[in-house]
Amino acid sequence: MTPELISRFVAITGEKNAICNANEMAGYLREPRDLWHGKSPLILRPTSTEEVSQILKLASETNTAVVPQSGNTGLVGGQIPFEGGEEILLSLERMTKILNVDAANNTMMVEAGAILKSVQDAADDADRMFPLRIASEGTCRIGGNLSTNAGGLNVLAYGNARDLCLGLEVVLPDGRIWNGLRSLRKDNTGYDLKNLFVGAEGTLGVITRAVLKLYPKVRAFETAFIAVTSPRAAVDLLSLLRELSGNRVVAFELLPRIAMDFTVKHMGLSNPLQDYSPWYVLSELADPVADCFAKVLEVAMERGLVTDATLAQSEAQRQALWAIRELMPESQRFEGGSIKHDISVPVSKIPQFIAEAMQAVNRLMPEARVLSFGHMGDGNLHFNVSQPIGMDKQGFLDGRHAMNAVVFEVVAKYEGSISAEHGIGRLKRDHMPEIKSAVELQMMRDLKKLFDPAGILNPGKVLPP
Ligand code: ZN
Repeated sequence: MTPELISRFVAITGEKNAICNANEMAGYLREPRDLWHGKSPLILRPTSTEEVSQILKLASETNTAVVPQSGNTGLVGGQIPFEGGEEILLSLERMTKILNVDAANNTMMVEAGAILKSVQDAADDADRMFPLRIASEGTCRIGGNLSTNAGGLNVLAYGNARDLCLGLEVVLPDGRIWNGLRSLRKDNTGYDLKNLFVGAEGTLGVITRAVLKLYPKVRAFETAFIAVTSPRAAVDLLSLLRELSGNRVVAFELLPRIAMDFTVKHMGLSNPLQDYSPWYVLSELADPVADCFAKVLEVAMERGLVTDATLAQSEAQRQALWAIRELMPESQRFEGGSIKHDISVPVSKIPQFIAEAMQAVNRLMPEARVLSFGHMGDGNLHFNVSQPIGMDKQGFLDGRHAMNAVVFEVVAKYEGSISAEHGIGRLKRDHMPEIKSAVELQMMRDLKKLFDPAGILNPGKVLPP
């Protein structure tokens, strides 16, 4: 990029919202797992949709590639420029306004750079709830949540980001602004364009505003930490819990013993249950009839599904139980290299999937340690493989493609997904031809060409070249 072109871009946002200095850029160019360090000549931080529009218009005219970024918490590299150093980074972090909350309509309108936690808080202030709940909620931003169709802990009850969005404002790659900020639950007027941009990872347009769905605030939770005998018992427990609670289950996380051991060992927590169990479940009911969970657990124990359980007696105890789950990913760092998979299969197939995928991993590497944990209630597991004790970390990580291949083979057998909630980005891009038919991939390429004929918006992400 010539200095002249850089100054034309800088003129749009003003110098104080443009970053050219390598030190100040560093935080935007490193992704959370340190897999990639991007390079960029310029970071722009527009404060309005109009500025985003001008940036993309100029980018289209000058064939300048642009990578949109919101909270930089993505786990597939979609928000990081490539190492070539030619792509401008467009940060939404200055566009953080909560524009309105319509409690009677159960909707709110926000700018794309609003931090998820502040969106949740604004809903809470209006005596409502925005139910997207993910580990990075204190730093991730809603535009990124929508662009990656984020999932998290409450998907089984409220759906993922896509299900929580009613309308969008999007700036197209040529700078045109599409106002699709509708607050309607019924609107059958042709193609659903909004849902093309949700989950597109910033390859079709830049989301600048969104209308989100709100729900009644939950007044009381019942939260239980439960020892179950097997993943099959967990599936049966989920069905029982749904049935006997009147469908009040809002979270259902499966946790294997080894993940508990890592968390207890490295994160300074203790196991709330005394006896050894091969599997645990952390589950939550929202506004159940009193003591519902205890009654369900009694039935589950009689049926041999559950061997032990503890119920949170206070909000502090509830938070303590959730801390176990929330610190679980972090604990894996202390056990060396970890090869991570974010997969989903039908809930009914979870037990077979776990058994077969573990066997497949151990055929490839007998001492590898599998941590198959996460959002079992919606069929999504974080199937992570920790290195054998004592193995060279880099050597282990270098074998990740072979490890991915054996896991993905089992995913395919159960007609699952190799990216349940993190997206494709750069990390899984080259798997697309394996998981999409030629027809499906061509439709995606055609859409990309239609929206972004010059290919300036987040090039090289999602779709293989
Ligand atoms: Zn997750």
